[in-house]
Order: sequence, then C-alpha cells, then structure tokens
Amino acid sequence: MLDIVIVGGGITGLAAAWQLEQTGEGVSYALLEASPRWGGKMSSQTLQAEGKTFLADGGPDTLVTRKPETWQLVNELGLQERVIVPASETKNIYVLDNGKIQPIPLSPGLFLRTPLLTWRGRLRLLAEPLQPARRDEGDESLAEFVTRRLGSEALEKFIGPVLGGIYNTDPARQSTLVSSPVMREMEKEAGSLFAAALGRMSKRRAPGPRFINFEGGMEELPQKIASRLTGTLRLNAPVSRIFPTRTGFAVELASGERLEAASVILATLANVSANLLQETAPQSATLLGQIAHQNIGTASLLYRESDLPAKPVINGLMIPRREKQPIDAVTVTSRKLPSRSYPGYTLLRVFFGGAQPTLVEEEDAALLHTLQGALNRLLGLRAQPLASALFRWKQGFPQAEVGHLERVDAIEASLPPGVYLAGSSYRGIAVPDCIRQGRDAAQKALRSSKSRSHSAR
Ligand SMILES: Cc1cc2nc3c(=O)[nH]c(=O)nc-3n(C[C@H](O)[C@H](O)[C@H](O)COP(=O)(O)OP(=O)(O)OC[C@H]3O[C@@H](n4cnc5c(N)ncnc54)[C@H](O)[C@@H]3O)c2cc1C
Repeated sequence: MLDIVIVGGGITGLAAAWQLEQTGEGVSYALLEASPRWGGKMSSQTLQAEGKTFLADGGPDTLVTRKPETWQLVNELGLQERVIVPASETKNIYVLDNGKIQPIPLSPGLFLRTPLLTWRGRLRLLAEPLQPARRDEGDESLAEFVTRRLGSEALEKFIGPVLGGIYNTDPARQSTLVSSPVMREMEKEAGSLFAAALGRMSKRRAPGPRFINFEGGMEELPQKIASRLTGTLRLNAPVSRIFPTRTGFAVELASGERLEAASVILATLANVSANLLQETAPQSATLLGQIAHQNIGTASLLYRESDLPAKPVINGLMIPRREKQPIDAVTVTSRKLPSRSYPGYTLLRVFFGGAQPTLVEEEDAALLHTLQGALNRLLGLRAQPLASALFRWKQGFPQAEVGHLERVDAIEASLPPGVYLAGSSYRGIAVPDCIRQGRDAAQKALRSSKSRSHSAR
C-alpha cells in the first residue's frame, strides 16, 4: 500500500512527484506513465542532415519566466547552466490576410502603413485608454475582451489570429480568465492596457531571461526531474481504471497489475481522467467529459537557407482559420533559437490540426505532402525538406471555454476525498501553470495523507 499514486508522467505529474520529494518526508509514491518516455508534450527530437545534427521541440519551445514556477524549478534542479534564451518573438511576425502575407503592425511605422487596418480601426485601437475598464471577476471570451478594449478590426485582423494560433482555438469561445488573465489584471490595475504596459515597462524587472529553453531541448527539464526522483517510477504503464477500496483506491494498469494507495493524483488530460474515474466518481467523470480537447501537431522541417526567398524575413506567420489553409502557423526555429542551427540552414516549425483536424491522423508521407504544398503556396518554398520530425496529439490540446474555471470548481467539488486533478485541462495550459498545479496537488495529497495517519493513531 502506497501513500500516493500519480498517473501521467508529463511535466504536471513530474512536478507533483518533485514536490513530494521536497516536502513529503517518508511518503511512499509511484509515478505511472503510459508511454516509453517522461515529459509528455515536452519532447525533443534530433534531425540529421549533411553530417549535422539539429534539434527540434515537438510541443513547447519557449517557457515564460514572468510566471515564476519554471524558473524556480530550474534553480531547484541546478539547471541554470543549461538554459538557452530564445530571440525576441515580437519581430517580423506576419499574418495571412486574404491570401497575402502582411506584417503585424507592432511598430509605429508599420502601424501607420499597414493595410490590415482602416483609419477608423487605427483610431479605435488608439482610443483604448479611453474605454471604460471592467473591474469585476466575471469571465468573457477573448474576442469580447479584445473587441471591448481594442475594437473589432484589431481582433479580426491580427490579435484574434495570434491568440487563436497560440491556443489553437476560436477566440469567440476561449476564456480570457484562463488564457490571458494578465490582460484583465492590467485593465484592473491601470484602467487601460496601454497605461498598464507603460507602468510595467518603467518598473525594474526581476533579473534573468524573459523566456527560456534548454541546450538539450525542452525534454531536458522533465528528464532531469525524472532522474532525481526516488519513488516507484514506471514507464510503459498505462492505467486503465481506478476503483475505491476499503482503505483508499486501487489503480489498475492495462496489464492487470494493481497498485493500492491512499490518494491518487490524476495528472492526465481531462478526457483521460474522465475514463479513469468512471467507476469511482461517475458525476466527476461526466463533468470532466464536458471539457473539449482539440487535435494538434507540429512538424519541424529542415531546409537549406537558399531554398527560401530572401525577403521578407519572416520569424513567424499566423494563419487565421478563415483563410482555409491546412496549416495554422509557421515559426522559424533557426532564428528563434540560433544555437539549434548552422549557417546556411533554416529550420521551420509548422503547426497543424486546428484548421484541418484530420491531418494529425494522416500517414507521415501524406502529411508531409500536404504541409509542403501549403509552404509552397504561402512562402514560395518549393524544395523538399532535408530532414523532418513530426509530432501529433490526437484530442490532446485542452480548450478552456468561457466559464471554464467555474466548471473546474464544480468538478473539484464533486471528487471523492483522496482524488486530485492537475494539468493543462484545468487551471492554465502553459508549462508554468502545469508545474504549479502539479505541486499544489501534491501538497493537497500530502495534507490529506497526514490527517489520515493522525486520525488513525
Ligand atoms: C504544439 C504545442 C506547443 C506548445 N507551446 C508551449 C509553449 O511554448 N510554452 C508553454 O508554456 N506551453 C506550451 N504548450 C503547452 C504545454 O506544453 C502543455 O500544456 C504541457 O506540457 C502539458 O503537460 P501535462 O503534463 O499536463 O500533460 P501532457 O504533457 O499531455 O502529459 C500527460 C501524460 O499522461 C500520460 N498518460 C495519458 N494517459 C495515461 C494513462 N492512462 N496512464 C498513464 N499515463 C497516461 C501521457 O502519455 C502523457 O505523458 C504547447 C503545447 C503544444 C501541444
């Protein structure tokens, strides 16, 4: 009989286990991961071409340090020396508009020249500080928020495509309180986004980089955590059901093996946790099943630099759904993370699965053919890639729709004592959010196991 079983060895489950190592003296735990590797979406793969080795991240490739959880974890693990700093993400970002690539107007010059906005749209955007501020705690969609503050043109022409691209979703459904709480905080704090941005710029920032990645790819962080854990660690161990026992829970693996524990932390997506809780907590399972998940995939494609047109210099291209393209965005890894490349080569990362969800189910050759066709049309890129790495997650990208946090509150209230949920389906999708949730769940499980052993005495 263990104290705690953690299901799912992505960054959330690993952070939960790390927290138990830090504060759970004498606590016995197991971490069970379905796949043959730790890290879930934090995965990296090498590409070989012409005698050189390149590195591609499949999921996250930038961790923001404004949310302190990742940086704190990096320090605890002694990984500071392994950190690399990605280049600025705000330069040379384009959006596809009516089939044409247009720069997103982030500088005053571009703002005046951009064909994306009418003069009316420009004036509306500049009138942002004059709009009344919302100061309550209620949720709204990203589309409502942006329209309210910056106007409908800004939403439709570039802010919507950027936010929709980041969250692989329709901004009209996406919860602002989950996806961009910082924008609501800024509105509350200064009455306007512009005023808050100016105020924040004048404040001294904490030392250290704003965004980070690692020499060995994103996978380095989860692998480092796994190497430091001392509990029972099992790869290739998919959990198939969980059921209550007299003293806690039995966690059954697909192989039929059972582990018993007083508490269970489910660090799996809500659609997986819904299945696992069917017997133990049917009402929670129904509510969990209401959280939608989208398909998502990325392809890292390596080219010779000369294969791409020299102009315009593109660091990122966002593609709104209305453009009816098979791909959702393109970023240029070799510019964002130059240490990942060699002179004369361009490493692209193409996002897919939002506009055309079935792409994640295609065979490699058919998928590459479709992506290649889109890159040819959009960027004039005719050459075949020298090497590629494909990553796909079917129903793997959680969608936090308006009212999401209330739904999560209701799910948590419905759980039997001793079951805890954490991860990207619940209270924020970014890696720091997942780390925070994993650590919080571990603390809650520890508290409950302490109070049980107290009352047993
Ligand atoms: C393309 C892409 C780009 C992203 N970019 C960024 C970014 O730049 N910055 C950022 O902060 N975030 C980014 N994110 C989001 C972030 O990567 C994820 O939200 C986060 O990694 C999720 O971690 P997790 O541990 O909660 O879930 P996952 O990584 O999904 O891990 C869940 C684990 O549970 C395992 N599992 C599933 N079923 C079972 C079972 N039955 N039994 C046992 N184990 C099971 C899975 O195999 C998996 O390893 C990105 C995500 C994607 C897809």
